[in-house]
Amino acid sequence: MASAAIIHCNHCKKDVQYHFDPVDHKKQLFLSLITLGLWLPVWLGLTFRPTKMCNECNGPIWNDNK
Ligand SMILES: [Zn+2]
Repeated sequence: MASAAIIHCNHCKKDVQYHFDPVDHKKQLFLSLITLGLWLPVWLGLTFRPTKMCNECNGPIWNDNK
């Protein structure tokens, strides 16, 4: 891994490296079924716009350009 991308984590309050959390499609399918499809938009959002995860605290990083 030669990734040197740095992003500011508002949990750690510092610049950190990040990774993308792989989408667990089986879990998303299960959630979609038990919510009668209400979870589908979230699933699509996760699939097409992966969440950056902080390498330090493993929390999601939502602020892209701030
Ligand atoms: Zn963090």
